[in-house]
Amino acid sequence: MEDTYRHKGMRKQLVSELASKGIQDTDVLEAIMAVPRHLFLDAVFTKQAYSNMAFQIGAGQTISHPYTVAFQTELLELVKGDKVLEIGTGSGFQTAILCELGAKVYSIERQRELYLKATQIIRKLGYTPKLRYGDGYKGWPTFGPFDKIIVTCGAPFIPEDLLKQMKVGGRMVIPLGAGKDQEMMLIVKEGEREFSQKKLGVFSFVPMLKETAK
Ligand code: SAH
Repeated sequence: MEDTYRHKGMRKQLVSELASKGIQDTDVLEAIMAVPRHLFLDAVFTKQAYSNMAFQIGAGQTISHPYTVAFQTELLELVKGDKVLEIGTGSGFQTAILCELGAKVYSIERQRELYLKATQIIRKLGYTPKLRYGDGYKGWPTFGPFDKIIVTCGAPFIPEDLLKQMKVGGRMVIPLGAGKDQEMMLIVKEGEREFSQKKLGVFSFVPMLKETAK
């Protein structure tokens, strides 16, 4: 549980790399600078934690590339106090970034092992999102509607429940596609039943799976 000057130095380098790749939102870059990504990874990966790479986090899942985290977060256009729903807590790194940006975060993970691991590290770092073990297809109606929704697994289609749980004027960032690659979609809820959508490039995520794993 150490965050040394060396780690901070590596984060600084990562932040310049992300900026050179086109991430412009300084709040997002500051959040990446603030969150010790190496603590979300198994110790064997510590040395590479600040390269722009994805890693295994257990249960056959991966932590997203820092660039992907920054790209999706930038698209949300977060405002402090926004209520944000995240589908796919995974390692909890993206969750921590959202908290760092001042959002009220609700995050769902369908792998129990990951839910438990992420809960531990997130609490240790002092963040206070609401975390839940369950099926993200249904969203989290008790706490909706949300200002922003971020899906961090590849969705074969846009879940109806998530559209319902968006506020009018709200934004959802979701990688769409059933195969190996997905198209990053930005959905804006323009009216009660009116949505606009934009395609923002191809990414590769682990699949969004149906039903809660045992
Ligand atoms: N934001 C995470 C990404 C992890 S990968 C991070 O940066 O670490 C995507 C995660 O989505 C995996 O942990 C996977 O178990 C989870 N997932 C897949 N289908 C899901 C579903 N239907 N509901 C909730 N989580 C899901």
